Amino acid sequence: MRLAILGGPGAGKSTQAEQLCRYLDIAWISTGDMLRGAIATQTELGAQVKAYVEKGDLVPDEIMIELIRQRLLQPDVLKGWLLDGYPRTAFQAEELDFLLDALGQKLDRVIWLEVAEAELMQRSIERSRLDDQPDAVQRRIELLQARTIPILEYYEYRQRVLKIDGNQAPEQVQQELRKMLGDISTDIKNL
Ligand code: AMP
Repeated sequence: MRLAILGGPGAGKSTQAEQLCRYLDIAWISTGDMLRGAIATQTELGAQVKAYVEKGDLVPDEIMIELIRQRLLQPDVLKGWLLDGYPRTAFQAEELDFLLDALGQKLDRVIWLEVAEAELMQRSIERSRLDDQPDAVQRRIELLQARTIPILEYYEYRQRVLKIDGNQAPEQVQQELRKMLGDISTDIKNL
């Protein structure tokens, strides 16, 4: 199965993604973790992206597209994957389609983890990570509205979106996700 999960800062994307990947035995590909890892280990990529991540800005599309291209060529992705936090812009979504076409693959579903804005802010501030300072969180919420939510329409048009209420307890969200994916797994095999 090939999936993407989108949601605001603190929506619970990574918690849900990690559990779902273990359950489905697919590769978990978190662009946020890849970028934070590159910053922490001071790689060339880390130096390029640090200022964007710290401010809550989006890393330029060209960098992200190349990062994903290289990641989807690794052998562990053959069993399926879940993109956690990618694509986040219309350009990334289009480029992902081109890349998958070239690889003879398809994105089966996009999970939209919906959480109210005030709740996103509250949860992020409690988490207090490098990119969870209030200004950065505010910026990430703005970018979610301006750049990421519009791409849901692109996927809705293709009937690929699974919308889930992320205001519920994490266990409940996970249960609902597994059920929804179970219900559509026959569909997906026929895609
Ligand atoms: P996340 O952990 O997914 O919320 O991502 C943390 C930060 O990494 C974001 O606020 C962005 O600065 C950067 N980032 C992660 N994924 C992307 C993406 N697909 N496009 C641009 N920037 C990204």
